[in-house]
Amino acid sequence: MIKESDLQAEQASQRDVVPAGDYYMQVLKAGQTLRILDLEGNQAADTLFYSSADPSERYSAIDTIREQGNVYLTAGTKLLSNQGSEMLTITADTCGRHDTLGGACATESNTVRYSLDKKCMHACRDSWMLAVAENDRYGLSKRDITHNINFFMNVPITAAGGLTFEDGISGAGKYVEMRAEMDVIVLMSNCPQLNNPCNGYNPTPVEMLIWDAA
Ligand SMILES: [Zn+2]
Repeated sequence: MIKESDLQAEQASQRDVVPAGDYYMQVLKAGQTLRILDLEGNQAADTLFYSSADPSERYSAIDTIREQGNVYLTAGTKLLSNQGSEMLTITADTCGRHDTLGGACATESNTVRYSLDKKCMHACRDSWMLAVAENDRYGLSKRDITHNINFFMNVPITAAGGLTFEDGISGAGKYVEMRAEMDVIVLMSNCPQLNNPCNGYNPTPVEMLIWDAA
């Protein structure tokens, strides 16, 4: 569902541009709103959420899909935790839908899907691992890396139930916005994938904007 935001970029309290292949890790306080802005279009932002009070509570694709009765995420979607609590609500979306089934790229999956010599290529899972290692104050480790959301990524389901990675439906300047319903740790890998069309074979930066509660 396309829904535009009322928020003005000039009034954001924090703005960070994240290059492709880099990560963003930040606490979003309850009531704050986060926008992920696809600066150049066709970019995937692979994102995990944890309760900052107790990171063993984290985003759950299973609970979110079951409760909303739809596999795509868009404006109005409540992002639920593995304990069934509302972590964030998607409040605006000019892309239209986002994936939470496709998972994140890893060097291992790159070798299985594409070829052995892709092993050395940068991947989202490595960016997350680097993030948790460089930010040990959050108390996260390798075992906390779980199923994620791929904002802006297009993974349509075929009539037979198959998953396909398709060319993106996002474009330059499109964004998705979400309000935190609890204090959450946001961990986003700006995807460096070059082997499938999720980034249009051209990974580009995204901007993360935060607004304080009105
Ligand atoms: Zn990736």
